Amino acid sequence: MRFDPPTLFVVLVVSMLTCTGLLLWSWLQNRHEKSLLWLSAAYAVAGAGNILLALRDTIPDFFTIQIANAIVLYGIGLGWNAARAFARRPTTQIVPAGAALIWLLLALIPAVSQTFEWRVTIASLGMATMCLMAAREVWRSDPSRARVAVVVVFTVHAAAVLCRIPIAVIGYVNGGIAVPFEDPSFSWFAIESSIFVYALAVLMVTLVKERIETRLRAAALTDPLTGLPNRRALFDRANSMIAHGARYRRPTTVIVFDLDRFKQINDTYGHPVGDAVIRAFASAASATLRAGDCIGRIGGEEFAAILPDTDEACGRIAAERIMRAFAGGVADLRFGRGNCTASAGLSSAPRSTMSIEMMLHAADRALYEAKRLGGNQLRTAAALAA
Ligand code: GH3
Ligand code: MG
Ligand code: MG
Repeated sequence: MRFDPPTLFVVLVVSMLTCTGLLLWSWLQNRHEKSLLWLSAAYAVAGAGNILLALRDTIPDFFTIQIANAIVLYGIGLGWNAARAFARRPTTQIVPAGAALIWLLLALIPAVSQTFEWRVTIASLGMATMCLMAAREVWRSDPSRARVAVVVVFTVHAAAVLCRIPIAVIGYVNGGIAVPFEDPSFSWFAIESSIFVYALAVLMVTLVKERIETRLRAAALTDPLTGLPNRRALFDRANSMIAHGARYRRPTTVIVFDLDRFKQINDTYGHPVGDAVIRAFASAASATLRAGDCIGRIGGEEFAAILPDTDEACGRIAAERIMRAFAGGVADLRFGRGNCTASAGLSSAPRSTMSIEMMLHAADRALYEAKRLGGNQLRTAAALAA
C-alpha cells in the first residue's frame, strides 16, 4: 500500500485541531474537570508544533527542528498535566517547560543539531518518557475499564515513538534520512499518531463521563445531610443481606429509630441545631455498629439498621449501645439541650425468611409501642416466625 506522507501529515494536524475543539466543548459542559481543558491545550500546542515541523525547507531549520520539537514536547507535557488533573494531583508548568528547555539546550549542541539520528533519539526519548509518565498518572486514578484503555493507548504510543530511534539510526547508517517526510516509515508513524490522538481524546471524555456517572449514582443513593445510605440504598442492601441470611439459615435483625420530640428541638433551637442532632445520631450509629451492619436514614428523623447474622438478644445490645452513644454525642453539641433522646423498635427473623418490608413493619409497630410508653426506650416485636 502506498501513502502520501504530506496528506497523512495534514490528517494528523487536523485530528489534533478537531480534538482540541471537541475537548474544549466537552470541558465547557463539565468545567470542574480540568483534565479536558489541559488535554485540549495539549492538542492545540502539539498541533501548532506539527504545523511548524511541516514547514521544513520553507522557513529556517532552527524553527522547523529545534523550536517545532520543543513545542511538541511542551504539548505532550500539557497532556501529562491532563493526566495529573484527572488523578486530582497538582499540575505544574515546570515539567512541560523543563522538557522543552532540556531539548532546546541539547539540540543547540552542534553535534546534536547536525545529526539526524541524535535529534530523533533525544526527542523520541523525551516524548516517550512523558507519555509513560502520563500513563502512570492515569493508572493511579479511579479504577475503571476506560482507565486501563488510556494507559494502554499511552504505552503503545510511547513504544511507537521509541521505534523511531532504531529506524533513524539504521537509516543514518545506510546513507541517512535527511528529511523525515521522505522515509516510508513516516507514513506509519503519522497513521499511528492520528489513531493515538483520537483514541486518547475519546477515552479521556469517557473516563470523565464514567466519573460523573459514578458520582451521580452515589449521590442518588446517599443522604446528603448525614452521608448515610438513603431509603432506596438501604432497601437494596437489606434485600441482599436477608437473602444471604436465608441461604445460610442465619438470623437477621432490623431496628428502626425515631428521635423523640424532634419537632420541639427544631422549634426551640432552630433547624441548624436539628440538623446537627440528626448528624450526631448518624455518627453515633455508624461508629457503634459492626462492619457488616448497615444503617440508613429512611425519613426526616428516622433511621433503620440491618444487622445480618444477629439474633434478637444481640440486636437489643446493639440498639441500646447506639442510643447511649447518641446521648453522649448530643451532650457534646453543647446547645441548650432539651430532651434529646431516641426510641427504637426491633424485629428479628431467626432464619431470615421474612422480607425487609415485613421486618420493617414489625419493627415500626414496636417503635410505636415505645413512643406510646413515653419514648427514650427500645421495644421488641414478638419474634417473627422463621
Ligand atoms: P415523636 O417524639 O413522636 O417522634 O415526635 P417528633 O416531633 O420527633 O416527630 P414529628 O414527626 O412530629 O416531627 C419530625 C420533625 O422532624 C418534623 C420535621 O420538620 C423535622 N425534620 C425532618 N427532616 C429534617 C431535617 O433534615 N432537618 C431538621 N432539622 N428537621 C427535620
Ligand atoms: Mg418520625
Ligand atoms: Mg420523632
